[in-house]
Amino acid sequence: MLSKINIANEAFGNWKKKTIAERMVLVKNLQLELEKNRNYYATLITKEMNKPITQSLAEVDKCGLLCDFYINNAAVFLETKHIKTEAVESFVTYEPLGVLLGIMPWNFPFWQVFRFAIPSIIAGNVVLVKHASNVPESAQSIENLFIKSGFPEGIYQNIAIKSDKVSEIIAHPFVKAVSLTGSEAAGSSVAAQAGKYLKKSLLELGGSNAFIVCNDANIDQTIRIAVNARMQNAGQSCIAAKRFLIHQDIFEAFTEKYKKALSELIQGDPMHPETQIGPMARIDLAEDLEKQVNQSVSMGAKIILGGQREGAFYSPTIITKVTPEMPVFKEETFGPVAVLLSFKTLDEAIALSNLSEFGLGVSIFTQNVESIKTRIPEFNEGAVFINEMVKSDPRLPFGGVKKSGYGRELAEEGIKEFVNTKTVVIQ
Ligand code: NAP
Repeated sequence: MLSKINIANEAFGNWKKKTIAERMVLVKNLQLELEKNRNYYATLITKEMNKPITQSLAEVDKCGLLCDFYINNAAVFLETKHIKTEAVESFVTYEPLGVLLGIMPWNFPFWQVFRFAIPSIIAGNVVLVKHASNVPESAQSIENLFIKSGFPEGIYQNIAIKSDKVSEIIAHPFVKAVSLTGSEAAGSSVAAQAGKYLKKSLLELGGSNAFIVCNDANIDQTIRIAVNARMQNAGQSCIAAKRFLIHQDIFEAFTEKYKKALSELIQGDPMHPETQIGPMARIDLAEDLEKQVNQSVSMGAKIILGGQREGAFYSPTIITKVTPEMPVFKEETFGPVAVLLSFKTLDEAIALSNLSEFGLGVSIFTQNVESIKTRIPEFNEGAVFINEMVKSDPRLPFGGVKKSGYGRELAEEGIKEFVNTKTVVIQ
């Protein structure tokens, strides 16, 4: 491991001297290589973590879009900023920090890595990536992709280590900062280690987004979005809608239509292009979900659709009669389980939404957009989406508050997380 850190540090010495335009040539090569072999990379994702192939292809394509976005915008984001003061000249520059450590999850094995690595590398940093242990081939193929695209040795290195070895890397003086996307437990442990050595950390952790449907919402349109918002990637997404808060006037109609829509989803072989829901990534994850559901049922919750597990397959599930004390409300459910609660007033819906310890995002569906806009500050979230599901977009900053973590990825905010914002004053 030490040798990889040394290689990274040596590579940084040259990489930081390159212009952004020089770095961009290689990022463009990488984008083209990725696009040319999209089927190969998507198949790898599906093989390793069971994502339906059409969704794996979409993930690979989104990585290409992210490259494109930073190729077109990074130079402007990192431009020296002149600020008028009493001095003869004063300005701010954005310089790379050095060797960064990225710790990544399996649920979007390409996208999570790309959104950390691409802007970091364009800004002049070099990265070591410790990927999740259940996606080793995806992890290695991303390093191979960088090499194939002409990046010098040491700019991107895959480090196949167990998580108990992470602390040694964080402690190393050449390593300047760490970015983790994963669970609350991993985030807390990594942040504590980074804190010990006074190194910057960025955490993208879990979520339990509310999906609020007001009584004036267009139900059919909302149902279509609600299916995707919860069931995409077999529900294994941090920003998935997990708690559905439905106005009491439309609760029954919404529930019936949602039940019908979920029961029509095609569950099966993830390699098959028709499949909409595959198995979960691992059997133990499906078992954990089953426990959360069973415990909630023992506390009074009612399964009105699904609730069955067969190996790693968990059927699309709807649960009603849910209270905030139950695991399916209180904890993150990382699988295809939707819980439905009804509310009388928007005040009540906002209070229920904010009751979560997480704060990644919320969706609200209504035709009265002007009125809901005035309530945006009341949501304790990193993102508020009106009449749309919460989703990431390279052009918009992404991240959470509360136990969903801190810091932002994507957009201008993301590329500026791992730079030294240097103030220069000349008198
Ligand atoms: P995880 O178990 O926390 O693993 C994530 C990464 O952290 C893996 O590489 C894992 O390595 C490593 N890790 C685990 N414990 C660690 C520790 N104590 N010290 C250092 N590294 C450690 O999470 P996951 O099950 O892969 O992913 C699901 C979680 O990620 C969910 O909570 C989800 O909401 C969250 N997530 C958040 C976002 C976001 O943007 N906010 C996006 C996607 C996922 P090993 O695999 O070797 O254990």
